[in-house]
Amino acid sequence: MRLPATVDAGRRAGAALRVLLLIAAAALFAAAPAIGLQGAPAITVIYPDPQPAERITPIWLRGVRYISTNDIARVFRATKYWRPELRKLSLRFGDHTIRLTVDAPVVLVDESAKNLVLPPRLVRGAVYVPEPLLQGLMEWGIVTAAVWDEPTRTVRFRAPVHTVRQAQLWVRGRVTEVSATLLKTLPPRVLYATPSEVRLLFEGGTLDTARVFGGGVVTSGTVTETSDGVEVRLVLGPDARGYAVSVNAHRLKVAVTDDGDLVSSGLFSPLEPISLGGADGKFRTVVIDPGHGGSDPGVALPGGTTEKEAALELARALRLELQDRLGARVVLTREGDIDLPLTRRSEIANEAGGELFVSLHFDAEGSIRSGGFRVYAFPPTATAAGAAERLPLALEGDAGGAELKPWDSAQAAAAGSSIAVGQAIADALARTFPQSRVAFRTGRIGVLEPIASPAVLLECAPSPRGGPEAMSLRGYSLRDVAKAIAQTIQDLARGGRV
Ligand SMILES: [Zn+2]
Repeated sequence: MRLPATVDAGRRAGAALRVLLLIAAAALFAAAPAIGLQGAPAITVIYPDPQPAERITPIWLRGVRYISTNDIARVFRATKYWRPELRKLSLRFGDHTIRLTVDAPVVLVDESAKNLVLPPRLVRGAVYVPEPLLQGLMEWGIVTAAVWDEPTRTVRFRAPVHTVRQAQLWVRGRVTEVSATLLKTLPPRVLYATPSEVRLLFEGGTLDTARVFGGGVVTSGTVTETSDGVEVRLVLGPDARGYAVSVNAHRLKVAVTDDGDLVSSGLFSPLEPISLGGADGKFRTVVIDPGHGGSDPGVALPGGTTEKEAALELARALRLELQDRLGARVVLTREGDIDLPLTRRSEIANEAGGELFVSLHFDAEGSIRSGGFRVYAFPPTATAAGAAERLPLALEGDAGGAELKPWDSAQAAAAGSSIAVGQAIADALARTFPQSRVAFRTGRIGVLEPIASPAVLLECAPSPRGGPEAMSLRGYSLRDVAKAIAQTIQDLARGGRV
């Protein structure tokens, strides 16, 4: 939703705003005499240099100051989702979401209800909220980069202090090292260190500048800030043997080597494939989850098919490929067109003793550009508040010997492997479909959270352009997608390079 033109203009010129608001007020009085509308004392927003400060002007509604959610979204870089038929608005601030309904005083802040006493209102096509909601954003921890100062009516953003700085790559003989300055001694978490890739996360860290570099044993290294923190990813050449991570005196060093003697002497840890399947590296059970079904068709896809149909079709193709290659039992969470709640899908996977879980979805023209793929794994960070209240999860085994794990920690234990599998599938799809945009992300996806094994979710966006080899979806063949995924899983099971 764009800012109404009148408000946009008014921000630039306070005098013009007053005139425009008077016009707006006059128009509104004519339309709805119960609501009064005029400018209230402005709020100053101070950003870190070099962004100039700005003023946002609340309006009075029945003696209370209201702020446009357009202003809130712009100032705090939130994403808005407006469903006019339900009069519901969601504002997403990174990991936090506020859900409100026009004319209802209770808003949902993440999972907890807050009573604003006065409800959000729809005024000339924009949703306005009582001013306390703006202050609440900072008081409730939704926005941590800014503080609210009541006496001066000021929102003051703090200058960002990056915890990871000046990442550099050095090649010293047979050792390649990435070093960075740490503002505080952040312990990194090694998500995985396989013969082809080392991936570390500084949970919650922030980065001064994203880096891409290569040299020595590192074919391609990236240091990036993700929603989980700062991630160091080193893609390794074929000769890589070992790695070492050290953090001391505010200095990070991640070193990799092709020198086997450094590994046997214990100075470097060996690079080892992630363990998937059983102890012998063989899969006994893989669980595939075709998304949606029954009364939930998912999105409409080009060619007149629906997401639930395409997901089931891809699931069947993937099952054939996996049975052929692995000789494993492949369980589908649904075989037909039935309603299936998310929690039931997770339960089926855990009850079956699945060693890998792949959920399949499609998108049309939404978040993925057409013809692309997005692979998700659950983030390796601390679990969401409230998750601990959920029911414990019973894993395979008889009642006496059943291992009990809480829902919220089930996927946390497999997080590194899930990320490695997700990245490997994304890489394979990028190689198979070089014209496609392929991305790997972490995301708090409900169906993945309770899964006790490595788990990923794949979202495919079919190209609207057709091809003769395509199955029901034009653009690429579902069989080729299934083959690329199955080949990756087969390689992983063999302890292959990921
Ligand atoms: Zn879906």
